[in-house]
Amino acid sequence: MRRSRTLFLAALAVTTLTAGTSGIAAPATDIPTLATQTTEEGQTVIYDRYTWQRRELDKRLPVTEPWPDDFKIGATLQRYKLDTPPIPATLPLPARIMTDVYLVNAEPNLVYLIDAGADGLVLVDPGLTMTVPAILKNVEKLGFSPSQIKWVINTHAHFDHSMADAAFQKLGAKILVGRPDVAAVEKGTYVTGKYAFPALTKGVYPTLKVDWPVDDGEELKLGNKTFVAIATPGHTPGSTCYWLTIDGKNILFGGDTILFDYRLGANLPSFADAQAYFTSLKKLAFYGLYPNTTRWDVLLPGHGTMVLDRAYMDVLKGYQQVELNMTDNTQVQALPFATDNYRKLMFGRP
Ligand SMILES: [Zn+2]
Repeated sequence: MRRSRTLFLAALAVTTLTAGTSGIAAPATDIPTLATQTTEEGQTVIYDRYTWQRRELDKRLPVTEPWPDDFKIGATLQRYKLDTPPIPATLPLPARIMTDVYLVNAEPNLVYLIDAGADGLVLVDPGLTMTVPAILKNVEKLGFSPSQIKWVINTHAHFDHSMADAAFQKLGAKILVGRPDVAAVEKGTYVTGKYAFPALTKGVYPTLKVDWPVDDGEELKLGNKTFVAIATPGHTPGSTCYWLTIDGKNILFGGDTILFDYRLGANLPSFADAQAYFTSLKKLAFYGLYPNTTRWDVLLPGHGTMVLDRAYMDVLKGYQQVELNMTDNTQVQALPFATDNYRKLMFGRP
């Protein structure tokens, strides 16, 4: 961790000196990559501390003991010496995830920046209005200019992913949203979930006119990158995952539809649809089998842990979990850690 912080500071020093020969800012060359860990399944992942601690606690806390309340979990973590984990409290930002893909914010959601060549940059899920200055600063630290952000892709209309759309549109970006979520983003409706955290969405909720309503299967040619939109309704009606291939790896931008290791999107009332969610996860799990097989390699979700290889395992886990919920007629849980199934699965693992 100390090493990566030093690298990070070194990177800051060089980015200010980096400029393209054509007058357009070029990506900085010495940006730190994020520290990775290997899971029991052999996957290479970039853990967030929240996930790592609870996952490790699942391995240690006997299933006969009640799972601690999350607000009081500190004492239990301490009991199992999980209070000083090898995972940083916050990820160093900005950071390079892989070729042309950067992380420019991590709380409350993971915000990705994709270098699409001379035509500009793509931002995935800009998040809250209040985090816009931090994102812009990180874009500059990477050696880019905020005016190079030409497209903002939304995975869904929840406020913690799309509230900052209006701010980036004002800076010149085109806003892309899955068609069934367009009205929510444009009008700031109930579907945005803004009612759930009034402290974060207080004041005037920013609204806008969406530039590009996205349909299922649409190929989005953005600069030198082509994203394939995969409509995955369930978490919200217009939830959309995006498939991008870089260096032969199939990258899935999962939003809140599919996340690491049984983590899923919350079923917020009135618009979430568990049956649609199940169908969407099945579609993702078997996506492109006909005619070509798409093997998900990288999962870049909306929150938590990022997966750098064998991401198909997480897609299958999500699909199986929601299938179980449908069969048992139980509610889909966003976080798996306290559930009986997950605890039994994890306990005693090395
Ligand atoms: Zn969401």
